[in-house]
Amino acid sequence: MKLRFRNRIALFTALAAAITIGLVFIVVYGVVHITAYKHLDHDIRREKEEVMINLRWVGDSILIEDLPEWEEKEHLRIEVNPTFLQIVDAGGHLLFRSSNLQQDKLLFDPHYSSETFFDSHIGARRIRQGQFPILNEHQTVIGHLSVGISQEESAIVLHNLRNTLWLAFPLVLIALFLAAGFAASRSIAPVQQLIQAASGIRETNIDARLPLPENKDEIYQLATTINELLQRVENGIIREKQFTADASHEMRTPLTAIRGTLEVLLRKQREPARYEEKIRRVIEEVDRLHGMLEQLLQLARLESDKITVRRSPVRLAVFSQAIVQKWDARLREKNMELQLQIPPEAILDTDETLLAIIVDNLLGNAIKYGHSGGHIAWIWQPENAAFIIRDDGPGISPEHLQHIFDRFYRADNSRSSAVRGAGLGLAIAKKLADLLGIRLTVSSTEGAGTDFTLNFP
Ligand code: ATP
Ligand code: MG
Repeated sequence: MKLRFRNRIALFTALAAAITIGLVFIVVYGVVHITAYKHLDHDIRREKEEVMINLRWVGDSILIEDLPEWEEKEHLRIEVNPTFLQIVDAGGHLLFRSSNLQQDKLLFDPHYSSETFFDSHIGARRIRQGQFPILNEHQTVIGHLSVGISQEESAIVLHNLRNTLWLAFPLVLIALFLAAGFAASRSIAPVQQLIQAASGIRETNIDARLPLPENKDEIYQLATTINELLQRVENGIIREKQFTADASHEMRTPLTAIRGTLEVLLRKQREPARYEEKIRRVIEEVDRLHGMLEQLLQLARLESDKITVRRSPVRLAVFSQAIVQKWDARLREKNMELQLQIPPEAILDTDETLLAIIVDNLLGNAIKYGHSGGHIAWIWQPENAAFIIRDDGPGISPEHLQHIFDRFYRADNSRSSAVRGAGLGLAIAKKLADLLGIRLTVSSTEGAGTDFTLNFP
C-alpha cells in the first residue's frame, strides 16, 4: 500500500487513537454494566432481608404466616417494578410463590448452598435473581428463598449505551483521521516548499540556495544541510571548470611551440644540422605533452578512486637505493650531492609503488629546483615515523607555499624560469599521500631551502 506521507501520518495517528478510544469505550461500558448489576443485586438483597424478617420456622419447617400480608403491601407497587418471590424447602419442593408469578416458577438451583446471584428468565422477561439459603437456629438449611426482579430497565440502558458507543466510534475515528491529515499536511508544507525550491536548481543556477525557515527546527537543519551540499557541488563544478581551462592552457603552450618550430623550418631550406636541432626541440615538446597527459591520467584515476592500495612490508633502505639510482645521472649532471640517512632495519607497511611515485616527485623537484652543486638529504626519523626530503635550493615564498599542492600551480620563479613542469607533481603526491594515510607537509625558507615531510600513520 503506497500512501502519501501525509496520509501515512494521519493513518498511524488514527490507528493509535482507535485503539485508545476503543479501550476507553470498553472500560466505560464495563463500569456502567457492573454498576447496573450492583444496583440490582443491592435491591434484591434488601427485598430478601425484608422477607427474612417475616419468616418463622419450627424445627425444620418454615411457617409462612406473615407473608401474605407482606404481599398485600408489595402488590401496591407491583406495576412499577415487580418483585418475584419463591420459597422452597430443603428438598426443593415449592412452599410459596408470590402471586405475580402466576403459573411461572423462579429457577431454583440446588447446587448453590450459599447466597448467589444470576441472570434468568420468566417467560420472555429477563430478570436478575438472588437465591438465599434459609437457616434455622441450629444453622441448618431448611429451605431457599429466591428473589427475582426485572432487569429490563438496566438492559435498555446498557443496550442504548452500547449502540451509542458503536455509532460514536467510527464517527470519532473519521473526525480524527481528517484532523490528523490536516495537521500533517500543515506540518509537511515547509518540506514541500523545500522540494519545490530544490527542484528548480540546475547546473546553470547552482549558486542558488534554499530559503531558510525562521524556526531553527529540523526543516531548518534539512535546508542548511542541502545548502551545504549545494555549496560542495558548486565548488566541485568550479574546480572542474578551472581544471579544464588550466589543462587546455597547459597543452596549448607546447603545441604552439611545436607549430612555431615546424613553421620556421618550412619557411626556407636549412642546413641538416639546423633541421636536427629543431626536430630535437619538437620531440622534447612532444615528450613534455606526453608527460603531462600521463600525469593528468594519473590524477583522473586518483580522483575517481580507481587506484587500489596493495600494502606490504617495505624495506626502506632497499627502496630508497632503487629510487636514488634512477636519479643518479641527473644528480651528476647538476653536480648535486644526495645524502641518504635511512637505517637498514627500517621497515614500513605501505604500498611500495604509490610511495615511490610520491618520493619521486619530491626528489625530482628538489633536484629540478635546487642549485647546481647543491645538497639534498633524504632522512628517516624513526621516532616520528617520518621521511624528510631536504634541499638547500631557492625555497618557496609564503604566498606560494599555501598553493603548491594545487593542480597546475607553479610558483612564479619556476614559471618564468627555464625549469619545465606542469605544476601537477605535488598535486598527485598529495592525493596519493591522502590515499595511503600519510600526512604530507612542507616548510620552506626563501633563499635557504625546503623540507618536505611525510608522516606515516
Ligand atoms: P611537474 O611536477 O608537474 O612536472 P612542477 O614541478 O612545476 O611540475 P609541482 O611538483 O607540483 O609542479 O611543484 C609546484 C611548484 O612548487 C613548482 O612549480 C615550484 O615552484 C614549487 N616547488 C616544488 N618543490 C620545490 C622545491 N624543492 N624547491 C623550490 N620550489 C619548489
Ligand atoms: Mg614537480
